[in-house]
Amino acid sequence: ENSETLLEVNNIEVIYNHVILVLKGVSLAVPKGGITALLGGNGAGKTTTLKAISNLLASERGEVTKGSILYRGEKVAARNPAELVTRGVIQVMEGRHCFEHLTVEENLLTGAYTRRDGAAAIKRDLEMVYEYFPRLRERRKSQAGYTSGGEQQMTAMGRALMSRPEMILLDEPSMGLAPQLVEQIFEIVKAVNEGEGVTFLLAEQNTNVALRYAHYGYILENGRVVMDGPAAALRENPDVKEFYLGMS
Ligand code: ATP
Repeated sequence: ENSETLLEVNNIEVIYNHVILVLKGVSLAVPKGGITALLGGNGAGKTTTLKAISNLLASERGEVTKGSILYRGEKVAARNPAELVTRGVIQVMEGRHCFEHLTVEENLLTGAYTRRDGAAAIKRDLEMVYEYFPRLRERRKSQAGYTSGGEQQMTAMGRALMSRPEMILLDEPSMGLAPQLVEQIFEIVKAVNEGEGVTFLLAEQNTNVALRYAHYGYILENGRVVMDGPAAALRENPDVKEFYLGMS
């Protein structure tokens, strides 16, 4: 690999409530321009890893107690959720989290609030989002809380795109969606990755679909990376086939 590493996680430990050790030394690297998948079952530690990266653990009484996180080779300061956002990394949380009382379009516009490049650029990017998510254009005037789960997932992703991120941390995009919609969401991830050069780190229980779209995967079990490799190799791995691909 000669591509630049954007994000590097080195041997991190995470403890909740001062006692519950949930991540027991997780290391991973996310290359610029790639789609990297964080895989594993319920409770393996995927969400905790993403929250550790984006400094969102404090509100859950969680803490990184060992290891380091580097973005573009520079250490990410602990306890400051705004820092990575200003450096171009944005997290799309599990369960979408739209502003339910705002319209789809208003939700998208909230994603642009940190920008200083003016109304014309924002309008252009709104158009860009609608190109990737034609469904959101149709629903732009609808109150987000009344749109479907798939539309809310798209709104959350579109809002992230409106901040013109370099990297998106995407937590469990397939959650609760019908298989056809899951495929659609991943097609859009791929299109955004290729079209805008956005780097993705995505946590996903649906190993099957994630390994078809990701370039590289890490499998977490019980707070540890038990296997990692190029997605194509993982798809062919007998253990992955037996324990993960049969399930979804
Ligand atoms: P899921 O798909 O359910 O989100 P996950 O792989 O993302 O699974 P995590 O949510 O990171 O897993 O959870 C890892 C472990 O940490 C689980 O055992 C969970 O019960 C525990 N955990 C998560 N949040 C907290 C918390 N706020 N306090 C204590 N334990 C927690």
